[in-house]
Amino acid sequence: MTERHSFVLCDIAVVDGTGGPVREHAFLEVLGARIARIGDMADYAPRDGVEEVRLPGHYVMPGLVDAHVHLSGGRAEVDDQEIGVVAEPMGLKAMRSVYEAQQLLKRGFTTVRDISWNGFYLKRLFVEQQIPGPKVVACGPGLTRTGGHGDLFQFTPDYVAEHGVWGIVADGPEEVRKAVRRNLREGADAIKIWVSGGDNWPHDRIEDVHYSMEELRACVEEAHRQKGTIVAAHAENREAIEMAIDAGCDTIEHGEEIDEALAKKMVERGTILVPTLELIINWYRDFIPLGDEPRAPVRPEAFLYRDLYQERTEEFGEAYSAASEASFRTALAAGVKIALGSDTVYEPLTKYGEYSAREFRALVQYGMTVPQAVHAATAVSSEAVGMSHALGTLEAGKLADLLVLRADPTSSADVVYDAAHHARVYCDGKLTVRDGEFVW
Ligand SMILES: [Zn+2]
Repeated sequence: MTERHSFVLCDIAVVDGTGGPVREHAFLEVLGARIARIGDMADYAPRDGVEEVRLPGHYVMPGLVDAHVHLSGGRAEVDDQEIGVVAEPMGLKAMRSVYEAQQLLKRGFTTVRDISWNGFYLKRLFVEQQIPGPKVVACGPGLTRTGGHGDLFQFTPDYVAEHGVWGIVADGPEEVRKAVRRNLREGADAIKIWVSGGDNWPHDRIEDVHYSMEELRACVEEAHRQKGTIVAAHAENREAIEMAIDAGCDTIEHGEEIDEALAKKMVERGTILVPTLELIINWYRDFIPLGDEPRAPVRPEAFLYRDLYQERTEEFGEAYSAASEASFRTALAAGVKIALGSDTVYEPLTKYGEYSAREFRALVQYGMTVPQAVHAATAVSSEAVGMSHALGTLEAGKLADLLVLRADPTSSADVVYDAAHHARVYCDGKLTVRDGEFVW
């Protein structure tokens, strides 16, 4: 492990994450784990015991935050319907999740919010600082109803309870309360709940709402009882999004049906959107073969007769992607707070680190300016994971999670996306990554 010591980055441009202009010819001083001072080089004077690191031509910004990942350790293709993920031993998945978290850190993501059992333990592991890793804000397993998005219908309920890496099944307000308390007992920083389906299997349809208002209120009340706990709601249809906002959930995950009325409500309540654009908008283009290709068994045949003949055609895929994009643009135009979340879920389907970087690019592709995307991926994402008191902007007193780049990250989405532009990553004031490799 590299020593933590006091240092000052000199001759550097500062992109502080607030969305303000780039501060050229500046210095940023770190004492121990925290940022001590930021100032202009004109006012800089060396101090005893503080190492000078001169980085002319470089830019420093807050470490990136991915507000939605699954460090699940599973390996599967979409055609497997995640059977591979569930069938393997939990220990193997836990070990792989270390690699997964480290891949994000190598791409400049110093904090991630994880939805899986592994997050509880990754969090503790990386705090021990024997091996490098990002800060893992743990949701633990998300709350799913029986037969919901986080349940795995291919296996018996007993098997899912032992081997399901993403979800904890809870039905009715009392079980929901108990599941929240159980996660908090394990060390959850946040609570994830699947309010709508997610289209992984036949009784898991995007258009259905999976929890009642009573259950949702119980979840939020119980989570917020432990102050500072964020509730993240997976909500893909309009009804579910509105219920989640009304129940007091803090973030809406995916949210493909936001119209102006819902956007207004989110602005009023301060509800944050985590749109997971790379996965949602490009899903049918990237993962589900359409057109002449055989249809992937997203909804296996003969489960619901009424769905049996609803082919996932190219037109369906295009319409879904277009609607998702319109929803995002509506939220953006209305001033909804928007955070970066990749929904990286397992390899080889989605590659850890690469997919988070792509989500940054997607925020720009679908309508944000580059400075807006930088603000989203730092300050807003830190708020979305409940860590804005300590992370997300460069200011005195905050933790020194820093990304140092060879080009201006507000000039092009490619600068944050392409690791070739990344020079260094500091975690809590410790140099952790240099040129994409760990220095530890
Ligand atoms: Zn997810």
